[in-house]
Amino acid sequence: MTLDAVPRIRLNDGNTIPQLGLGVYKVDDDEAERSVAAALQAGYRHIDTAEYYANEAGVGRALASSGIARDDVYVTTKVWNDQQGFDSTLSSFDRSMTKLGFDVLDLYLIHWPAPRQDLYVDTYRALERLREEGRVRSIGVSNFQVHHLERLLGETDVVPVINQIEVQPWLQQRELRDFGDTRHIVTEAWSPLARGRILDEPVLTTLASAHGVSVAQLVIRWHLQSGLVVIPKSVTPSRIAENIDVFGFELSADEMASIAALDAGERVGSHPDEVG
Ligand code: NDP
Repeated sequence: MTLDAVPRIRLNDGNTIPQLGLGVYKVDDDEAERSVAAALQAGYRHIDTAEYYANEAGVGRALASSGIARDDVYVTTKVWNDQQGFDSTLSSFDRSMTKLGFDVLDLYLIHWPAPRQDLYVDTYRALERLREEGRVRSIGVSNFQVHHLERLLGETDVVPVINQIEVQPWLQQRELRDFGDTRHIVTEAWSPLARGRILDEPVLTTLASAHGVSVAQLVIRWHLQSGLVVIPKSVTPSRIAENIDVFGFELSADEMASIAALDAGERVGSHPDEVG
């Protein structure tokens, strides 16, 4: 895998993000260190963590011992629901940076809108402050629906670069993605493999064998050709390598359409109205 195999996507603030990264949700600190080390070895230069995952220290250790320059790896972390609010977000950011061992973060996200708390606008203002201070390069959100984005755009100054949401073949979120496109907010897909549950889907197994690839590779390729940033998670070194080996084949328009037809509005994760 050559280092420039993964394309970069330009964000609305002029920065760029590698279109494919490694997710580390539900991975403990030591295992995160091992997975990130395996991913860097396989050519990944983008890692998605969060304060909530309790593995920022392991991610930081893997980067520090990799010998790869800090600026050559793109790292995202996120502020958790119980830290929302202006001051507590600033403190939470400081704790994340201490655990990661970084001076500057690439991307900081609000993990969930947590609408019942009604704090996401104040929280976002803290992200704007961190960006002004140069402590984070880009800021964005996660799990925001159209009405959350509309309110944020109306009440704050900096357009989020990314909305990280669940997208997988059974939940394609067309309306939300289209809204993001019109506002230059890139969609990033979490649980892109539906937590592994999509891998037996017959339409996908047929397409995958036609290309001589695994279903995971086929689905990751579909995300990439859909213009999404994608962050599949694995702790298994062979799968980590497999999931980035997706640049040697291409899906036709008909194949893309047959995957589009699998959309059933079925989530594997939580609904944003129910979290926080
Ligand atoms: P994924 O859809 O990435 O699926 C991960 C599962 O698929 C694991 O069980 C993994 O197994 C398995 N898997 C991975 N690659 C392969 C392969 N090639 N062949 C067979 N099985 C495979 O699920 P996640 O929920 O982890 O989502 C990815 C990332 O998105 C998270 O890690 C996190 O960074 C982010 N996320 C963000 C959320 C948010 O609210 N913002 C919510 C949820 C996720 P194994 O590890 O055992 O190899």
